[in-house]
Amino acid sequence: MASCGILAGKVAFVTGAGSGIGRATCRLLARDGAKVIAADRNLQAAQETANQLNGERATAAAVEVDVASLTSVQQAVAAALSIYKQAPSIVVNSAGITRDNYLLKMPERDYDDVYSVNLKGTFLVTQQLAKAMIEQQLQGGSIINLSSIVAKMNNVGQANYAATKAGVISLTEVASKELGKFGIRVNCILPGYIDTPMVAVVPDKIKEQVVQKCPLARLGKPEEIAEVIAFLASEKASYVTGAAIEVTGGLK
Ligand code: NAD
Repeated sequence: MASCGILAGKVAFVTGAGSGIGRATCRLLARDGAKVIAADRNLQAAQETANQLNGERATAAAVEVDVASLTSVQQAVAAALSIYKQAPSIVVNSAGITRDNYLLKMPERDYDDVYSVNLKGTFLVTQQLAKAMIEQQLQGGSIINLSSIVAKMNNVGQANYAATKAGVISLTEVASKELGKFGIRVNCILPGYIDTPMVAVVPDKIKEQVVQKCPLARLGKPEEIAEVIAFLASEKASYVTGAAIEVTGGLK
């Protein structure tokens, strides 16, 4: 793997790094030269991601984080700062969960859990790492949040998930306005249906309907999201902030 790519000298902090889009993102950011902090509630899975990258001569470390907890996020940020003696200037908020159910049947707990991870978690990680970047006067910060096309499709059975992913778009835009003066760009991606463990549990019938409606007639691969994240992380996207980019194979 390249240690002299366009992200050389930068540290990237990726949540949800133990699986799916988060893991693929760690690989592509490392390919482009970033040193990676793979953060996940599942430390073993994050460690596997880091081990794979270190085995490919990249530089990666794993930290445990529950993005829904301020204390846990602060501990993970402190750990990240001590590992590379440098604040991350690339942050990817990929940790996310679903708890699908019809509105009339949805337990309060399933609403709260999805809110806490997807929206509050994105807020906490953004807040704590933006503070660290500003304190270290880092230039060229880039924060990339994972929303979802579900924020626009508003699928039946996903009131909690759709609302949090719509919230991520608003959070991204506000953060871009507040953090622009510190040279920090904030963008989000709206993936379509991507072939990860999250989508593996979606019934085949629904996946077939999605593929039929999708102009490119297939599910996406995690690397196809990670490539757009790597672009947004880099100076190639130096004038892109506050954007919500659909990466869906044309699915709307
Ligand atoms: P995934 O289930 O494969 O991975 C999610 C990761 O997040 C897991 O490793 C899990 O341990 C971690 N995680 C869950 N709760 C956490 C917490 N509280 N703190 C820290 N880590 C936690 O999911 P994925 O498909 O890779 O999705 C990544 C992101 O992309 C999510 O935000 C998801 O909502 C979004 N997204 C995915 C798709 C898709 O089709 N896969 C589509 C649109 C948006």
